[in-house]
Parts: sequence; C-alpha cells; structure tokens
Amino acid sequence: MSFAELWDSLLDIGRDPGTGGYRRYTFTDADAACRAWFMKTAAERNLRTHSDRNANLWAWWDVGDSADADPAEPGQPRRPAGGRPERMARGGVWGGRPPEASTVITGSHLDSVPDGGAFDGPLGVVSAFAAVDLLRERGFAPARPVAVAAFCEEEGGRFGMACLGSRLLTGAVTPDTARELRDGTGVTFAEAMASAGLDPARLSADEELLARIGAFVELHIEQGSALDGLGAAVGVAESIWPHGRWRLDFTGRADHAGTTRLDDRRDPMLPYAAAVLEARQAAAAAGALATFGKVVAEPGAANAISSAVHAWLDARAPGQEVLDHMVGQIEAAARRAAQAQGVEVGVRRESFTPLVEFDPALRARVSRALAGRGITAPVLPTGAGHDAGFLAARVPTAMLFVRNPTGVSHSPAEHASRADCEAGVVALAAVLEELTSP
Ligand SMILES: [Zn+2]
Repeated sequence: MSFAELWDSLLDIGRDPGTGGYRRYTFTDADAACRAWFMKTAAERNLRTHSDRNANLWAWWDVGDSADADPAEPGQPRRPAGGRPERMARGGVWGGRPPEASTVITGSHLDSVPDGGAFDGPLGVVSAFAAVDLLRERGFAPARPVAVAAFCEEEGGRFGMACLGSRLLTGAVTPDTARELRDGTGVTFAEAMASAGLDPARLSADEELLARIGAFVELHIEQGSALDGLGAAVGVAESIWPHGRWRLDFTGRADHAGTTRLDDRRDPMLPYAAAVLEARQAAAAAGALATFGKVVAEPGAANAISSAVHAWLDARAPGQEVLDHMVGQIEAAARRAAQAQGVEVGVRRESFTPLVEFDPALRARVSRALAGRGITAPVLPTGAGHDAGFLAARVPTAMLFVRNPTGVSHSPAEHASRADCEAGVVALAAVLEELTSP
C-alpha cells in the first residue's frame, strides 16, 4: 500500500468539521477509532499486535515473518517465541545482544492537542507502517524484530500530562499519579481507561517490554521551519530542550465592572497580564521560549472583575540554568504585580522534562545510514517534547524530522508535502534496514 492510501485511511478520524482541526483525545470515541485503525493496519500486514498495560499499542514484525503468512488474530500471539532464529547480533549499538532483546521500535502517537494538525504524531505511525511495507517490497528480511508503536496520551490533551504512555512504560511517572489525573470535566485517567475497556490496575513500568527494545527511532513532523531554511526534506534530532508546564493561580475579588472604582479593585487579570508580558521579554532575552496558551477566568463574565485567573505557562530553553532563570523572572513579575493589586498568587510546576541528548552512537549510525543512501539530513535541536525523550532515558533513541514549510504545528495549518512525507518513509526505511541488517 502506498503512503498516500495509508495516510488517507486515517485522515477523517477525529477531525472536527467546523475547524478542520483534530480532536483525538485519549479514551474518547475518536481515540477508539484510531486504536482500531492501528490494529487493523497491523493485522493487514500480518504484524502481531498488542495493547500494553499502559494503553500503548504495538505491532511486531518478528524475525522470519513475511507480509503474506497466515494473518494473525489481533492481540493474539501467532506462534510460540521458541520458533524464532537464535542468531546473535554483532556488537556496535547492540553490544552483542540477541535479536529478541534488540527489537528496533519505531512509531509515535495518534492523539492530538485540541484542534491539532494531521501530522503531529500520526505521521510517525503511518510512516512506520509504510517503511515496513517498503522494506518488504524490497524483500528485506530483518535479523532483529521491528515493532511499530503508538503511545497513549502523548499530547496531554485530555489529562494534562504530556507523554503519559511513555512515562508510564519507563517508570517516569507513578501509576497512582497517572490514575488520579483528571480531565476538564473531572473524569480521572483510571475511570476513562476503564470505560475504554482497559484495566487501570495494571498500569506500571514495563521492564519486560523495555528489555526487548534495542533502539527506538521516532519520525515526527518538524515543529519549526529549520529544515525549510536548510533546504532539506528530513533531519536528525540532536537534543530536546528541557521544558515544563507551570500553573499560576491568581486570586482576587469578583466585583462589578461598572461600579467598582479602579483603586478599590483586586483584579487578578492585571498580574496575569504582567506575567504574560514578562514571559515574552524574558524568553526573548534568554533565546528561549515561554508561552501562556491557556487561561481560565472566573466567573468569566464580560461585565465583572474576575475573582480568579488560572493560567498555564509552557517554558522551554536550551539549558536547565537558562530555563530556571527565565521561569524565576516570570514568577517574580507575577508576584510583584499581584502584590501591587492585592491579589494572591500561587505557582505550581505541573510537569517537567530535563534536557534529553539523543544517543550519540545511534545518532551517528542513523546519519551514516542516510548519508550512505544519498539523503541529506541536517542535525537539529528541538524545543518540543516527544515520547522519544522518555524512551531515551532507558534505551538508545533517535529521531527523524520531516520538513514543515510553515513551521506551524499544533494547528490545522500544520503541513508537510506528500513528497517530503514519502522522503521521510524512505529515510526511516533506510534507518530500519541499517539497524536490523544481519
Ligand atoms: Zn507529537
């Protein structure tokens, strides 16, 4: 199947007809349809599937399998593991591990931010299946298993914690913390998971699964326009900036907008505004990024002074010290302005991911594999978090980026040309071939 057919088979799921954006929130009907699409796509390729204890999806291309063997029942192992060849991997990245303990994982996520674009996440999953197709068309037989993964709740679009599935898998968040996360209507992650037919009691780090992974390569649309500037269709990630989310709660006093004298007000909107302006200035001065993208005013009446303003700061920087300093400046500005207005302010860090440097040996091997096939792939840092960032703490991990000419992401305007998507598939197939060759 061509990339285009595969891409189109997913395209309509969870798209809002009004905005054209995607609303693929975890454990909703749209998410169930995405999961069913993953299972069907894998089964059509004779890939063994399973949903792990953390609601991540897997499709395994085991050594010796071909596209036209007996199709597997989704979720059922087709044959015992003992039937696989016992060849040993050569050294290098694998350190002599047996094939069964050096599966090359590729994939990304299928969930979206509110009104997200079509490419962020799905491009990596669709490209993974397309790369498997391409390798099989060429008659390539991997000496190590390949698996396609789709991680749960990567965007934090419903429960507020990004990369939840990969955090759970790698033990970066406790199961209890995950179970208690709530969506905007108060439903917990555990409740939503149970209503999707999965068992929240089983959430936990999955050492057995991690032990089978030799490397993870995530292909992702670039969330910036660096590749466009460099004239390259694909790039290789160098690092992920440290980044986090902070919640700022400003508490003032609700009052009448038409009768309350300015001097008598305790308006929480003012220190909030000061924080927004400081975020922009501090980020510009630091060569970093700081964004208030979500704000809730209470009671939210157009003719009333707010009683409270809740705001979320997303901050990212090239290094830890720069990030700490910038967030400190924003918090200080919020507190100064709050004090001047008689407003209380509380600041709480909701999530944080330290600097991720991708495995240098794997990155070098990825770059060599691409160069060897005449693919120019510049090396880039990124400010965006990914499941690859959490996997990188446990297994050698690399990322490929596909050019996004406008640089726009997390919006329906996010775009990659068909030709660049196909170049991404060719690049990913080259990397998988390199990493799983005998
Ligand atoms: Zn993503």
